[in-house]
Amino acid sequence: MDANEYQTLALCSESPGRERRERLLNAALGLCGEAGEFADTLKKSVFQGHAMDEAALRKELGDVLWYVALACDALGAGMGTVMAQNIEKLRRRYPDGFCSERSLNRKDEG
Ligand SMILES: [Mg+2]
Repeated sequence: MDANEYQTLALCSESPGRERRERLLNAALGLCGEAGEFADTLKKSVFQGHAMDEAALRKELGDVLWYVALACDALGAGMGTVMAQNIEKLRRRYPDGFCSERSLNRKDEG
């Protein structure tokens, strides 16, 4: 499945009738919540003796993606476009692959 197809299908489960600003806030809060669920699942494995639950980690990543799809849509962007823009930024930042020196002396955007 490609990113734009995912975005279209994922947003079929969005509750309707929200304004753009509400959709962006929903996405921002949801991303924080789902990233927290991912971190909590990993924390239980590293610090509390639980087995590494890779299925749960993948499920939480999927939940993160749902909110990424929502944020992209609220911004009028396809996920594929946002992904491509991110790769382009990374290529400018690290044209020959990751380099500590370039990371330490970054002057570009976040
Ligand atoms: Mg979740």
